Amino acid sequence: MWNKVFIFLLLSILSVYHLNAQDGIITFEVGSSTVTLLSEGQRTGGTNVLEGATEEMIKQAIPEGAYPSATNVFLIELAGKVMLIDAGLGKKTIENLELFGKKASDVDAIFITHLHGDHIGSLALDNVKSYPKATIYLSKPEYDYYMNDETLNNLPENRRGGILNMRKLFDIYKNQLTVFTPGEIDNANALIPGIKGVAAYGHTPGHAGYLLESDGSSLFFWGDLTHAMAIQMPFPEVALVYDTDKTQAIETRQKLLKYVADNNIRIAGAHIQFPGMGDLKKNTSHGYKFTLTCSCEGQYPDTK
Ligand SMILES: [Zn+2]
Repeated sequence: MWNKVFIFLLLSILSVYHLNAQDGIITFEVGSSTVTLLSEGQRTGGTNVLEGATEEMIKQAIPEGAYPSATNVFLIELAGKVMLIDAGLGKKTIENLELFGKKASDVDAIFITHLHGDHIGSLALDNVKSYPKATIYLSKPEYDYYMNDETLNNLPENRRGGILNMRKLFDIYKNQLTVFTPGEIDNANALIPGIKGVAAYGHTPGHAGYLLESDGSSLFFWGDLTHAMAIQMPFPEVALVYDTDKTQAIETRQKLLKYVADNNIRIAGAHIQFPGMGDLKKNTSHGYKFTLTCSCEGQYPDTK
């Protein structure tokens, strides 16, 4: 009898999770455009992936030793175009689009921040192109890194598969790929009217952010500029083991955090907990204070 009650309770909790996971879709207006979070899931990160976090910093920022994290894709609708920032893990991106009434074949453009698996997962499933008409925007240093034979030759044989798979992906999208050189956030060129490609190198060689500007409002999609907001906001000098060039990643983060805080630009991140966006202010002492756009809390199952 108690077993049955336990199973019933467990199923109830799981179904609440499921409902919350669907609530992972939330839309915001940015000028005359709309931005919708297509959440691929919420999770908790640990201190084992942090680099340069002292015990004092951890005690102050994340005394419980863990912090909220997520995997996010953002849908932008601007001037009749359907566009994505990143393509997620590939687990739920297309399903999420459909929940929102859009098909992969409706997508006109995808702006890729960098080529890690949790940002490009839905581009091709089983080597079949998912987005038949989307222009794929990718920064030149990121593209060059994967196309450079030196990158390949410097890797041990058992780690070359990732580079070769990426080249296969480029080939799948060869007629849709637009490779661009990102600019500095204060004078980057528009890739299309309303969206600029911004250099944010360090996490990967060509990591890029995208600045959406519409009718005087703006939103900066900063990709993986941060992974652990709870500690990297008060201490931007904390890096992640996944950062390719940690020194450059820290410098880039310091520079861009200052710019968006000074200019009151709202930001959205690939690994910021629900709803994936918010605003930051400079602390008087050190670092920044981040506030989520809404306090729409939810408990989500681990999806990683
Ligand atoms: Zn990532």
